[in-house]
Amino acid sequence: MKRIKNFFAYFIREDLSTHHRLVNIMLLVGIISLIVCIFFDFFIGTGLRTFWIMLLLVLAFAFSLYVANVWNKPNVAGLILAISSNYFLMPFLFFAEGGKESAMPVWLALAGLFVWLCVEGWPVFVIYVGDIILYITLFMIEYNNPDMVQKMADRKAEYVDYIFGISAIILIFGIIFKFQSRIYEKRREELEEKERELTRMNLDLEKANEAKSIFLARMSHEIRTPINAIIGMNEMTLRESSEENILNYAGSIETASNTLLSLINDILDFSKIESGQMQILPEEYELNSLINDCYSLLDMRARGKGLRLKLEYNEKLPTVLLGDEVRIRQIVTNLLTNAVKYTDSGTITFEVNYVKNEEDRINLLIRVTDTGRGISEEEIGGIFDSFSRADERHNRSIEGSGLGLAITKQLIDLMGGSISVRSKQGVGSEFTAVIPQKVVSQTPIGNVWKKFNARSGTGQSYKETFTAPDARILAVDDVMVNLQIITLLLKKTEVAIDIAESGRKALEMYNDNHYDIVLLDHMMPEMDGIETFDLMTKTEKYKKEHTPIIALTANAIQGADKEYLAVGFADYLTKPVQAKELEHMLIKYLPKDLVTMKDND
Ligand code: ADP
Repeated sequence: MKRIKNFFAYFIREDLSTHHRLVNIMLLVGIISLIVCIFFDFFIGTGLRTFWIMLLLVLAFAFSLYVANVWNKPNVAGLILAISSNYFLMPFLFFAEGGKESAMPVWLALAGLFVWLCVEGWPVFVIYVGDIILYITLFMIEYNNPDMVQKMADRKAEYVDYIFGISAIILIFGIIFKFQSRIYEKRREELEEKERELTRMNLDLEKANEAKSIFLARMSHEIRTPINAIIGMNEMTLRESSEENILNYAGSIETASNTLLSLINDILDFSKIESGQMQILPEEYELNSLINDCYSLLDMRARGKGLRLKLEYNEKLPTVLLGDEVRIRQIVTNLLTNAVKYTDSGTITFEVNYVKNEEDRINLLIRVTDTGRGISEEEIGGIFDSFSRADERHNRSIEGSGLGLAITKQLIDLMGGSISVRSKQGVGSEFTAVIPQKVVSQTPIGNVWKKFNARSGTGQSYKETFTAPDARILAVDDVMVNLQIITLLLKKTEVAIDIAESGRKALEMYNDNHYDIVLLDHMMPEMDGIETFDLMTKTEKYKKEHTPIIALTANAIQGADKEYLAVGFADYLTKPVQAKELEHMLIKYLPKDLVTMKDND
């Protein structure tokens, strides 16, 4: 029994196509029915002629089975089955088994339908037309020469033949339909399982991606803290040493740590964008200072390489815009930095222009053109993809992560703008960013040079911007070196600085003394910055004095910046704390009568 089952299973096994399996089933059904008929006819004694014809057909079907499974040509087998049953078996049976007055018309229909099931492509139509011609011929012959058709013995035999024919056809088609719907059902189940598996895999991938983003953000946060210390301490060396050797070493440390910091910032930004946590925070800003700062920042680097940085801008550009200034600066700096990095000689043009959109909206147009090495046609398509670096062989000596342009593009996308590039290898590149911005003041910027203020810079050129000897602030951080840095950075401002290494200590000190500002680190063991802030703001003292509390954060995970303002912090400073930003923050929040501004021109 098992053997028989295995024999049939072989012809409908899973690795065969549905059509192949169908042809096999029909051939097997055909062979079995023919053998049954041969025995049946043998017992009721239908002449030898029928026996030979049936035997011939059994052989033809067996041969088709061979063609389908050994030669693996199910279509040819289907054709043999269709032609032999339609054009040989059926005409013969028509004349031998009672013609129109028997179940023959039903059998003819069955043979005709077989063709549609087991033949593929255009031959189906050819055989169908052939069938119609055959039916007409057969019925015409019977009509004109009724004697040529061997009639059934009597009317009873005709009825029996009908019943037998109809039952057999229902059985055959029933089996075929069941088989097909089983295959369909199985496929559907398989598809559903695959879909479930895909959803599971997607979830796993999402989880892995999230874990990666969190890991990247954590790592870069962890790395920023020691860089903070390096940059801060090095800044003090640059300020306080007059030995040329030491200044040279410290200068190198400054360059290297700034590069490291910008890499870490890129990774942090990238992971924020990837996890959908990058937010665009629109604020009012002055376009003039943005252009100035970006220009002067890169002008020095360009000069250092013997390049000329040319600024071209439209004097009618509006002065005050509403947008995310920090991110626009990042975009401009990325484009200018790349132009300087990938240009060995010639000129870099930094162009700022605009197109008026609506009454209070413009498309800010930033174009950076260089005469550098350019990008090849093959590589230009993937230039905005993350981690893609064009011409890696030649550019290996140039520092970069391949993240700058990906971040730039994604930031521009987030702002609803667009970026495009045109480049020719060996001639130069042109990057054009279009960023929609809201206009706050239509006053034209005019001549930006007039308002130009050189950056205070670092190193020996440092000059404090104010002094406030009567001011007193409290700095809170669990890492001592960070507190030292703040103290050192503010040394020349003469501000009195108290330090606390924990939230608890900070609360005690806050209660016992008067402070004009509290600088409060977020990430601290035991009581973190937010908790300390909560307790501090509940004190009677705070309720009376409303001391500005500024968050110190090396943490840019999950749009933390906004979180601080939402909690009630007056402002926040991102580590590594820069001297200039720290001073600006103090000028902004110290009582005006305590601050004496210094003229640094
Ligand atoms: P990277 O950190 O490598 O500079 P970016 O994403 O900023 O990463 O740039 C990706 C690649 O695009 C660079 O590695 C460089 O090959 C190419 N590229 C970018 N800007 C320019 C340019 N102005 N001139 C020539 N090639 C450029």
